[in-house]
Amino acid sequence: MAKDDRINIQLQCTECKSKNYATCKNKKTTKNKLELNKFCPKCGKQTLHKETK
Ligand SMILES: [Zn+2]
Repeated sequence: MAKDDRINIQLQCTECKSKNYATCKNKKTTKNKLELNKFCPKCGKQTLHKETK
């Protein structure tokens, strides 16, 4: 697997728009945008977080 396949992304809360998590993904194997339920410290609850750069 080439190093270039992995890109850094951030996960942004869809409710308050905070960027709470940084992660990386393989752009070749993960074509869809990531959407994860994560705990948002600003909202104080689990919210949907979407991939952003
Ligand atoms: Zn939030």
